[in-house]
Amino acid sequence: MSTKARVIIVGAGLAGMAAARSLTEHDVKVRIIDENPHPGGQLLRTIPAASRSTGLTREGPKRRGLALLSRLKSRRVEIHSQTQVVGSDGAGRVWVDSPRAPLQELSADRILLASGARETFLPFPGWTLPGVLSTGGAQLLIKGSGVLPAPEMVIAGSGPLPLALAREVLKYKGRITALLDESRLVDSLELLKLLPRQLPRLLQGIRLQGRLLRAGVLTRHQSRIIEARGDEQLAECTMAGLDSSGAPVPGSERTLRTPGLAVGCGLVPNIELGREMGCRAGYNQNKGGWVLLVSESQETSISGIYAAGEPTGIAGGNKALLEGEIAGLAIASSLKGRLSRKDRRRLARLRKRLKQELDFGAFLCRLARIPAAGYASIPKETIICRCEQIRLAEILESIHLGFSTMASVKKATRCGMGRCQGRTCAPILQEILMTHPDAASNGPAPLSVRSPVKPVALESLLEPKEGVR
Ligand SMILES: Cc1cc2nc3c(=O)[nH]c(=O)nc-3n(C[C@H](O)[C@H](O)[C@H](O)COP(=O)(O)OP(=O)(O)OC[C@H]3O[C@@H](n4cnc5c(N)ncnc54)[C@H](O)[C@@H]3O)c2cc1C
Repeated sequence: MSTKARVIIVGAGLAGMAAARSLTEHDVKVRIIDENPHPGGQLLRTIPAASRSTGLTREGPKRRGLALLSRLKSRRVEIHSQTQVVGSDGAGRVWVDSPRAPLQELSADRILLASGARETFLPFPGWTLPGVLSTGGAQLLIKGSGVLPAPEMVIAGSGPLPLALAREVLKYKGRITALLDESRLVDSLELLKLLPRQLPRLLQGIRLQGRLLRAGVLTRHQSRIIEARGDEQLAECTMAGLDSSGAPVPGSERTLRTPGLAVGCGLVPNIELGREMGCRAGYNQNKGGWVLLVSESQETSISGIYAAGEPTGIAGGNKALLEGEIAGLAIASSLKGRLSRKDRRRLARLRKRLKQELDFGAFLCRLARIPAAGYASIPKETIICRCEQIRLAEILESIHLGFSTMASVKKATRCGMGRCQGRTCAPILQEILMTHPDAASNGPAPLSVRSPVKPVALESLLEPKEGVR
């Protein structure tokens, strides 16, 4: 890391790679930083090495991601894997941490934030038991190592990830005891409104449902896991049907014996780094909650800092690819002067397609969204903050005492003060506050962010290395 790159891209996922391609096409020097061991982001990180090199995958964004990967290698983009960006000065300098070196300072003329998203959850008693996983975590385990979390599984939640996991479980010859979906069947049919553009996705969904049916798995809509039990390890869980408001129907409970349970309720954008840099964020339920606000060039409210992919809104791989390409072209234009006519036409085409993907994203977010009654029916003994073991009862007590904002509840209870820095519990706490009669009037307000935005070993902080430009 000896020279100053013109552009630093945080995240080697679809958005980051698409941006890097546009930039290298314009001879802009790019450095990509990613905390994962391999580039490719969430979608490609578990694709086996053989398919990475031969492109053995038929799915659109994955196929295009693999093509980008091999192109990046041939263009010799500087990729720093297993390196996390933990902070910045908001003016072109970032601090990076890797197991190989103490904290380093890197600078660039432009920064692109393409840091993806993470899963969110509706907590229930027992969700912290060994044997209960996130749908994304279970997918990682299966795709990365070919190992099933358990030979038999209950899969539950909302949005597309439970279905995606069910497909993997069947592929690896696992059994699915039950597949539960929070939404109503009729909600999925909303995809029909987005035809003909979304026809491939509709067909993909129909094919997958057919495969599940052939394996004897019927998706139960308007259903939720409300409790998991076991001494040291998950042994059984309780499912319940939901009424039209999303609250469990008394008397509908059923016990399912299972050694494995995977749950997930959609995704929330990773915007902490952008907020730490001072970029303006906005709350939009149709985009997955808090997102970084960007111009049509993908530039944030801070000049020279751009964002693409999930941090600007949850909408899937195609949207990430489009925004990455747009950001790359816009950054190249800002560094090199005007774009050619050909590139300007290309930008116009990309923006038109982006609009269609944003409509699909809004559909995905509506499908994944848990209604207020879901949060209102969490039992009081449920742990909300896993790191600090803070239960809902303590949060409700603090609201009763007048601590009704995210920041004040955090200070009063330590919810969100643990190792994950609120990455898991903050979106849940926000929904609890937004649905509580004594706190809802405050509206959504995220927790404040300070660097380091990711956990850093003390030794990295004690031994700062000379600045690298
Ligand atoms: C758990 C999970 C499972 C998913 N499963 C599926 C699926 O099965 N099918 C599907 O179609 N879509 C799935 N998605 C959605 C899909 O991953 C996205 O649509 C797509 O990957 C978005 O691309 P992106 O470039 O915006 O983000 P990503 O591909 O997630 O790339 C973001 C990258 O940024 C890196 N990063 C983040 N913060 C930092 C930092 N501070 N420093 C350094 N690096 C950082 C991450 O390591 C990551 O590699 C899943 C998403 C998640 C979160």
